Amino acid sequence: MHPLGVYVHFPFCLQKCGYCDFVSYETAPAAAGSGATLAAIDHEAYADAVLAELDARAAGLEGYALASVFFGGGTPSLWEPRALGRVLDAVRRHFGAAGAPPEVTVECNPSSLDGDRARALVDVGVDRLSVGVQAVDDARLRHLGRLHSADEARATLREVRAAGVPRLSADLIYAVGDQTPASAAADARELADLGVDHVSAYALIVETGTRFGELARRGRLPLADDGAMVESFFAVDAALAEAGLEHYEVSNFARPGERARHNVGYWRGDDYLGLGCAAYGTLAQAGGAMRWRNVLDPARYAAAARGATPLAPAAEGGVVATVEALDAETRLRERIMLGLRMRDGLDLAEAAAAVGCEPWPRERARAAERLVARGRLVREGDRLRVPHEAYVWVDDTAAALF
Ligand code: SF4
Repeated sequence: MHPLGVYVHFPFCLQKCGYCDFVSYETAPAAAGSGATLAAIDHEAYADAVLAELDARAAGLEGYALASVFFGGGTPSLWEPRALGRVLDAVRRHFGAAGAPPEVTVECNPSSLDGDRARALVDVGVDRLSVGVQAVDDARLRHLGRLHSADEARATLREVRAAGVPRLSADLIYAVGDQTPASAAADARELADLGVDHVSAYALIVETGTRFGELARRGRLPLADDGAMVESFFAVDAALAEAGLEHYEVSNFARPGERARHNVGYWRGDDYLGLGCAAYGTLAQAGGAMRWRNVLDPARYAAAARGATPLAPAAEGGVVATVEALDAETRLRERIMLGLRMRDGLDLAEAAAAVGCEPWPRERARAAERLVARGRLVREGDRLRVPHEAYVWVDDTAAALF
C-alpha cells in the first residue's frame, strides 16, 4: 500500500490579504461582527460537490492507504464543521489508514476561529489546526491586510489550546517592510511561548497579480532587502531553536514528534489527491505521474463536480482545468528540489529507484562534488542534505543537481 495525502481546497475568505496569490474569493460576512458565518457560501452544496468529485476519483484508485488529510484555502475555518466533517468521513471511508490514524489538519484564521469552533472541528475528527497568525504586531497585521489584532491572535491560540485541540501550528511572515530581525525573532518567540507545537515561517514574497505586487510595481511598497531577509531567517531560527523547536524543513519548525506529516509527504514526493475548486493532485501512473488542477471558479467547479462527467476536461463540462504528464526525470528533479528542503535530506538512490531512473549520471555526480567542496551540500553515500548554514541557498543547490 502506498501512502496517500488528500488535500481539500476551500476557496473563500472574509477579506483578501494584500500579499495573497492563493485562489481565494472574498465573501461578505452575513452580518456586521459575525465573521464566522457567511451567508454567501452554500456550505453543504460545496461539500456535496467535493463528495461528488471524491466518488469519481476514488473509483479508480487502489493500493493506497490514507496518511493525511489537509483542508487548505482560502479559510477552511469558515466552513461549517458539519459540512467539513461529511467530507472527512467520506475520505476515511474511501481509503484504509496507513497504520497510524491519518493526520487531519484544518487551516484557520483567528478571525474565524474560537474555542467552540475548535471543539466542533475536533468532534468531527480533526486533530491538528494550522492558524494563520502571521504577525504579533497590530501595525504589521494591518499592513498585511489581516482582519485580526495581535491580542485576538493570542486569545485565539489560548482558547484553541484550552479547547483540547491535540496539535497546533501557527504561520508567521517575516521581513515585512522595514521589520528588523530582532522583531521577527520576537514574533517567533511569542508564538512558541503561546504553546504551539509547530511554526511555519516564511519571508514575505511579493507576487505579481496581488495588491502588494501592484504597490511594488509603482514603487509604493517598502521592501526588505536580501541581507535583512537572511538575517531574519537566522534570527527566527535561533529564537525557535532556543524554544525547543527543531528546524526540520527550510521554512518549518516542530517540537519533537510534531512535524507536519501531510507536508512531509509532499517533500518526499508521495502521491496526493487534490479535491475542490483550484486543487492540484499528483498520482503515479505507468512511466511517471499525472498532475492535474481543477477549475478556479467555485460555481463552475460545483456545477461540473455534480455533473455527468466530473473528471472530464473543463471544456467538456468537467472539473479539470489542466493536466500534465510528468516523466521519471521530472519526478526525480522534484524529489531532489523538495527533499533537500528537509533537514534529513533525501536518499538519491531510493528516490531514483522509486520513479525509475538513474540516480548518478556523471554530470550530477560532478555537480555534487563541487557543491560539497563549497559547503553547500553534505553527501554520505547516496544520502544528500543541505547543511543548516546553507539553507538559504537550497534552491540553487537543488537546481545545480538537475
Ligand atoms: S486569509 Fe489566507 S488565503 Fe485568505 S486572502 Fe489571506 S492569505 Fe489568502
